[in-house]
Amino acid sequence: MELNKDIDQFDIPLAKRTYINNPNSTLLKKLLIFSPFLLLFFSVAALRFIRNVELIPLNNLKFQVERNNDARILGHLPYNETPKEKLVLIEPHIEVHIDMRDSLLKMREEAKKDGIYLVFLSGYRSINLQNDIFYSLKSIRNQEASERARVSAPPGYSEHSTGFAIDIGDATQRETDFETDFENTEAFGWLIKNAAKFHFKLSFNKDNKYIDYEPWHWRYEGSIEALKVFESSNRKL
Ligand SMILES: [Zn+2]
Repeated sequence: MELNKDIDQFDIPLAKRTYINNPNSTLLKKLLIFSPFLLLFFSVAALRFIRNVELIPLNNLKFQVERNNDARILGHLPYNETPKEKLVLIEPHIEVHIDMRDSLLKMREEAKKDGIYLVFLSGYRSINLQNDIFYSLKSIRNQEASERARVSAPPGYSEHSTGFAIDIGDATQRETDFETDFENTEAFGWLIKNAAKFHFKLSFNKDNKYIDYEPWHWRYEGSIEALKVFESSNRKL
């Protein structure tokens, strides 16, 4: 009896195993049928994961580039108008940011000692004045905005509205005022050699692909405020 009982005990699991095998094979069949779909599902999931990982830095870069490009209009960066209380008159009709006054006047004095006579042509310009210059000259010259923007900033996009920009001429060669020919004057030669000592820098050099070369246009970068104003311009160079 005991033996029979033992055999029964063995039989039951064997029978169970046979019974269990059936649903297993059904499951296996189902798996085989659905395996291409499962494979597809996991492949798509894996691909999406990989793409996301790769695209995150790319998207950031793309966003940065778009943001930088969005800030520009016809190649010019936006600039705020300096508050009136930060402006000082250095000559009739020429106002500049108080931070750069001493340096600018000192530069003219030093040039004079070397026999060079610098003349200041234009300093601070309000956004309203820039508006008149940009649109009136555009009409007078029958130019499209993009053509005009090569030689004049649209209102709200001029370094002159910051008070940190100055247009300089040679007092002995006034015919070169605002002309590319200014680069052949002694004044320009002196500025190229010495302006950096006074924290002045040429804004639009020959490498600028949007804006024409302006040898007469210099900007001041000798104070924290000025550096902040021109930070994005310097970052892009
Ligand atoms: Zn200028």
